[in-house]
Amino acid sequence: MSKIPRRSTTAQAVRSGRKRRPASREVRNAWDQLSDTIRSCRLCPLGDVRTQAVVYRGSLAPRVVFIGEAPGAEEDRTGLPFVGRSGRELDRAVVSLGLSPEEYGVLNVLKCRPPANHFDPGAARTCRPYLDRQLDLLRPDVIVTLGARALKAIDPTAPTMLAAAGRARAHEGTPHFPLLHPAAALRSRRLRERWERDVRALGRWLAGRPA
Ligand code: URA
Repeated sequence: MSKIPRRSTTAQAVRSGRKRRPASREVRNAWDQLSDTIRSCRLCPLGDVRTQAVVYRGSLAPRVVFIGEAPGAEEDRTGLPFVGRSGRELDRAVVSLGLSPEEYGVLNVLKCRPPANHFDPGAARTCRPYLDRQLDLLRPDVIVTLGARALKAIDPTAPTMLAAAGRARAHEGTPHFPLLHPAAALRSRRLRERWERDVRALGRWLAGRPA
């Protein structure tokens, strides 16, 4: 049984934050153009083996952006990030944080599924300008990295995943909060406890930040 509360006092505090302005027309146009570019990208070999590129799901004026590693089979099939088992775990955490759909978004370091789900660092380097441009346009207040690959992409100086998870860090601008990848919670009871503890710490941190 999950120890992450369905709706905590932390969630109330997160909810009380000031609403962000909706994305401007310029941002929406630039976002559409970027999304089209990503969907037709053939800059690395993953472009030849994907079913479709996976760009984003969520608000275009998010307070929080969650960054994962790479699309898996379900994501490759649907074109949306985090819609498989890990996605359901992430969605439960988002509910416990009290984030409304306008307040967050989800994306990946890699936009295309790597064969056998083996993360491809070369493809990640090629893909990097897409991630940077997405973050430029979305301008979240906070980034939450999910797993070691996302953590290293955002903060190359970070220590190991287990040492960094559960505490906010600062690296070049937007503050970020590392979490384990939600798939870890499905792997063992020990990692589930750690995942849930870190999600609660994220909730407290978000509640303490002026929105
Ligand atoms: N794992 C990820 O890192 N991203 C997804 O979109 C799905 C699973």
